[in-house]
Amino acid sequence: MPIRPICITGNPVLHTKALEVTVFDENLQQLVLDMFETMDEAPGVGLAAPQVGVNLRVFVYDWDAEDSSPQRGVVINPTLELSEIPDGPADLDAESEGCLSIPGERFPLRRADRAILRGVDLDRAPVHIEATGWFARIFQHEFDHLNGILYADRLEEIHKAECQKIVVERGWGKDGLSWLPGEEHLEG
Ligand code: ZN
Repeated sequence: MPIRPICITGNPVLHTKALEVTVFDENLQQLVLDMFETMDEAPGVGLAAPQVGVNLRVFVYDWDAEDSSPQRGVVINPTLELSEIPDGPADLDAESEGCLSIPGERFPLRRADRAILRGVDLDRAPVHIEATGWFARIFQHEFDHLNGILYADRLEEIHKAECQKIVVERGWGKDGLSWLPGEEHLEG
């Protein structure tokens, strides 16, 4: 089962704080392999374990910044240190992000410009990445998933209302919905 179904907003696993990883075994290795494949197929620039229904503090990312080499990896039990989040409304063009658990939609959201990610990889070797811009945004988005927070939860009221309307229209916002990357249609 390399490509796993991605949970859609409303599935309780997306709205629950994930647990620390304590067992580094082949199940964890398989999970991470599957998460990379699922992220690539979706396609996405990040994927957190709760999005594939696993309540653990793990995420993968793949960010091809124009001004630096591609960054791809996994982080387990991460911490995230952020610069201040700027005041004011988010910019529709420059700050719109999306989420594979609210598929096909994008809304603008203010994020910190700098983030320091720390954690471990599958070999329990330390991970320490200093990111800026969109790379920092990906870390904030995925880290939120591990705390049961979707970016929709952080939107300004006007965008939050718009997003909620779409969730209702699509029949999302309830348990048991997912979609499988590679298939044309969303499935329940
Ligand atoms: Zn997401």
